[in-house]
Amino acid sequence: MSGFTFEEMWEKIMACDRKYDGLFYTAVKTTKIYCRPSCRSRKPKKVNVEFYATIEEAESRGFRACKRCQPETELSPNAEVVQNVISFLIANHKQKLSLEEVAAHAGLSPSYLDRVFKEETSETPRVFLEKIRVDKAAHLLEHTEFTNLEICYEAGFQSTSHFYKAFRRAKNLSPNEFRKMTKGLQHGYENEQPHYAGSGTG
Ligand SMILES: [Zn+2]
Repeated sequence: MSGFTFEEMWEKIMACDRKYDGLFYTAVKTTKIYCRPSCRSRKPKKVNVEFYATIEEAESRGFRACKRCQPETELSPNAEVVQNVISFLIANHKQKLSLEEVAAHAGLSPSYLDRVFKEETSETPRVFLEKIRVDKAAHLLEHTEFTNLEICYEAGFQSTSHFYKAFRRAKNLSPNEFRKMTKGLQHGYENEQPHYAGSGTG
């Protein structure tokens, strides 16, 4: 689904990451509620979570929309265009992508795409794509034993220097430092329950 593993989607909902809204939905088996990834309601337990690619799927399985993040509300036409572009960026993040190619996919001129995209996300498609790649790299650093070079290309960076620069800009750590930190955390908190933060209606 949406090119993400369960673990990746789980990380995104724990981070309440708005970048991935509309690309999948979190459904909670115990409450029968579904949410956007960015919902700030209390986090469910991992075992109770299912992910769906579409609202229709979640609803056909008997889930109701969360009142807090309102995943069922219609998108504006521009938001829909941008969401479509984001799906395209995620599906193709491993390749070299130019703004022209992305615009052609969306059927827009590059300058118009840039403007609409920025209005909706306050980023340019280029910066957004870089963040998707950093997220991917971070996930691989934490969950695989791939080398930095392998991760660089797996995440879609065109050179290691670009990878290191972009990664540090986003995380304030080098890939090695990040890997050390996340492995350390996993180890230290293995037996704790990380999903209690926040409050809300969920
Ligand atoms: Zn919600």
